[in-house]
Amino acid sequence: MKADHIRQNLLKMNLFDVYPLNDIEIVKAAGSTVWDAEGQEYLDLYGGHAVISIGHTHPHYVKRLTDQLNKVGFYSNSVKIPLQVELAEKLGKVSGKTDFQLFLCNSGAEANENALKMASFYNGRKKVIAFKGAFHGRTSLAVSATDNPKIIAPVNETDHIVFLPFNDEAALKNAFEEFGQEISSVIIEGIQGVGGIREASVPFLQLIRSLCDEYNAVYIADSVQCGYGRTGHFYSHDYAGVEADVYTMAKGMGNGFPVAGISIAPKFKPWHYMLGTTFGGNHLACAAALAVLEIMEQDNLMANAAEVGNYLIAELKKFEVVKEVRGRGLMIGIELPEELNQVKKNLLFNQHIFTGEAKPNVIRLLPALNLTKAHADHFLENFKIALQG
Ligand code: PLP
Repeated sequence: MKADHIRQNLLKMNLFDVYPLNDIEIVKAAGSTVWDAEGQEYLDLYGGHAVISIGHTHPHYVKRLTDQLNKVGFYSNSVKIPLQVELAEKLGKVSGKTDFQLFLCNSGAEANENALKMASFYNGRKKVIAFKGAFHGRTSLAVSATDNPKIIAPVNETDHIVFLPFNDEAALKNAFEEFGQEISSVIIEGIQGVGGIREASVPFLQLIRSLCDEYNAVYIADSVQCGYGRTGHFYSHDYAGVEADVYTMAKGMGNGFPVAGISIAPKFKPWHYMLGTTFGGNHLACAAALAVLEIMEQDNLMANAAEVGNYLIAELKKFEVVKEVRGRGLMIGIELPEELNQVKKNLLFNQHIFTGEAKPNVIRLLPALNLTKAHADHFLENFKIALQG
């Protein structure tokens, strides 16, 4: 009897409980607004973790995906998919890298994994330079290059990765002097997201470029969070005025549809089966990514991200209790003193504003790129109230 009861319970499948959840169910969304099951409205400055780039349920996006689904949703990479070619052309144009090549996949980790792998195929080497505070994803090599031992399983441990302090030019030079001919690639976020919205300095990125040139190593720009127009430039690394060899992208690319990619400099020559994926670049994914780029172009969203973002940053810097405001465009980190560690929760449950966070006490703003100045003002007024508890 008892065994039966236990079995009955075991027969009910549970979720594998890996996420600490807020007790909120979102049932409707439009632009930068979402509603929960009780009808409560929220301002979304989190964008589902930097994913919502053109706003929730954008009519053009919904139509393009619906139309595509009614034609063909998926076929494998064994046949021609002209939408992929269209996407590559559009991405080349909007990102200003028409001579680069596009490989499509499904997630940020997968994009970084493929970039690291391709770099190693290219120069036949094994060592990767990554940085303190970095987050590159959870697949085997991407997680090994992530500075968080808690999420690196024993099977992912490798001595191929060399972690260096972020923005430390002397340490970078020393590492190249020590391992130069063994270094396959250097992977770096233009602005560290999980690391607390910390920007790679211009001289540091320039040094990466020149050392990679000198040693024939590959400069990989992880643009998964800081890219896709979020800072006002398509790739935030490009503020440094030097080009990376490979840019990885995901989050904002599909406005919520899982699609990712790597943009690859012309010097890398592909061969058949070098990289591959079942789902990557399917018809629906391409339609989603094209819809995003079309809206970005049509509504000048990169300029809007720069303008509204700069406004927010300038206004946030006026709050005396804020320790530091970091970031660019609509990738903003607000560092608060330890005693104000309830502000993010206050914003969500009292002011009904979604924001992100980074440890220990940084509020992350990662909203849609068409956030309005009125939204920004709404946040600023409510931030003031949330600070008071
Ligand atoms: N790289 C960066 C900079 C990220 O912020 C993330 C996700 O947060 C990833 C890679 C991994 O992306 P995904 O979760 O899509 O695998």
